[in-house]
Amino acid sequence: MTGVTLQGSHGAWAVFRGDARISPFYRDQDAAARRQLSIERTPTRTVRRCLCCGHPFASEGRGHRMCDGCRGQWDGAV
Ligand SMILES: [Zn+2]
Repeated sequence: MTGVTLQGSHGAWAVFRGDARISPFYRDQDAAARRQLSIERTPTRTVRRCLCCGHPFASEGRGHRMCDGCRGQWDGAV
């Protein structure tokens, strides 16, 4: 798989596929790099826009409408 990149600086690292952020932000670059590896091992998912913030993200299915960052904020409410 190509196109998955680690982007960030100064304690805010995240994994991107193209322009879409597909992971939460991490303070630790190593943690973000591990997330990148796990994402690279999983099949490509549909890119949707988050219902909460409107940011493109990789959806895991029909019921998955919020990005990981927003889902994290709501802590399992969705
Ligand atoms: Zn969001």
